[in-house]
Amino acid sequence: MTYDVIVIGLGGMGSAAAYHLAARGQRVLGLEKFSPAHDRGSSHGGSRIIRQSYFEDPAYVPLLLRSYELWDKLAADSGREVFRLTGGLFIGPPDSLTVAGSLRASQEWDLPHEVLDAAEIRRRHPNFTPRDGDIALYEAKAGFARPEMTVQAHIDLAGQAGATLSFGEEVLHWAETARGVTVTTARGTYTAGQLVVCPGAWAPQLLAEFGIPITVERQVLYWFDPVGGAGAFADQPIFIAEDAAGEQIYGFPAIDGQAGGVKVAFFRRGVVCTPETIDREVHDREVGEMRSRAAELLPALDGPLVHSATCMYSNTPDQHFVIARHPDSANVTVACGFSGHGFKFVPVVGEILADLATEGTTRHPITLFDPRRLVTT
Ligand SMILES: Cc1cc2nc3c(=O)[nH]c(=O)nc-3n(C[C@H](O)[C@H](O)[C@H](O)COP(=O)(O)OP(=O)(O)OC[C@H]3O[C@@H](n4cnc5c(N)ncnc54)[C@H](O)[C@@H]3O)c2cc1C
Repeated sequence: MTYDVIVIGLGGMGSAAAYHLAARGQRVLGLEKFSPAHDRGSSHGGSRIIRQSYFEDPAYVPLLLRSYELWDKLAADSGREVFRLTGGLFIGPPDSLTVAGSLRASQEWDLPHEVLDAAEIRRRHPNFTPRDGDIALYEAKAGFARPEMTVQAHIDLAGQAGATLSFGEEVLHWAETARGVTVTTARGTYTAGQLVVCPGAWAPQLLAEFGIPITVERQVLYWFDPVGGAGAFADQPIFIAEDAAGEQIYGFPAIDGQAGGVKVAFFRRGVVCTPETIDREVHDREVGEMRSRAAELLPALDGPLVHSATCMYSNTPDQHFVIARHPDSANVTVACGFSGHGFKFVPVVGEILADLATEGTTRHPITLFDPRRLVTT
């Protein structure tokens, strides 16, 4: 069988691309090395922050507005709670990236928000003990997505729309031909008109000739059982908090009830690794560092560690994504380098990749993600 489009990698981005392509009537083959919604890549761990007041760059906001529409649609189409709005607190010194950047994006795009001083944060959200002088931007439309559920929803909907999805099938090689592409796995060789490559942390291997410098980093997620029980954390907002040195931590409500714990993590305290060399063990020293930093802001989190996990970021030098037609291959579209902040964009990235593979262009603003900014020749 000849396919219109082959999608390599059915993690966050690839599963969304497979769904959007199949929904447009394309004959899609998706190839994934592991099982559906697995925990070996970058799209696992129960929760991902979603927000619109985007301190990284206001240029992301129009994509977030569209992503939110597609989050709603995905929830309706799948009948699953793939995301929940909890409100979000972005806390730090007034001139910090977290606060000033969130404020800038909110003002530039006229996004509803409030600015709270430390006393007001403590009054409204008694779990939090910010330092005097810290302030927060509060965004009611922030919340979290559930990564495994999202990936599974896109896989299921893609299948219902006619996509052929194969798991446990690793792509060994792909090449352009005069009429499209060929993709080789241990099971066979497939041909298609177009290829979409969504390799996550495997980008340095699958897109080696592309020349994009991507650094893969090990990140750790921690779930603590709050002192006094999880009840007080059931309805709290998601948060990102920056300290005086510029280091950010983030966290979630107790979303899985009493036994699940409250998840917190350092945003960018990663160690360089590869998918093969990543240390999956979480060490006592790391737990101690996370516990003491989290307890400064949320004293009740000084309870037992109930769970921990590792995950990988794929960082570009400027931490902006790579989403584009391959500069040297007209039939190939790539999406990689999501630099630890891609999940909230999963639905809109699926739409953009479907646009690029079927029309060669997209109405969405993706200039920021042009790989030519990074390629050194
Ligand atoms: C700890 C952590 C916390 C995060 N928090 C947030 C957050 O709060 N908010 C947010 O927006 N983002 C967050 N992110 C980032 C976000 O999760 C990622 O940007 C996103 O999941 C990346 O999706 P992906 O499709 O690129 O990668 P993946 O989901 O890893 O998908 C890549 C897929 O390609 C497959 N693959 C690779 N090579 C091959 C091959 N040769 N053949 C077949 N298949 C192959 C892999 O098995 C994998 O399934 C976080 C990430 C981590 C790790």
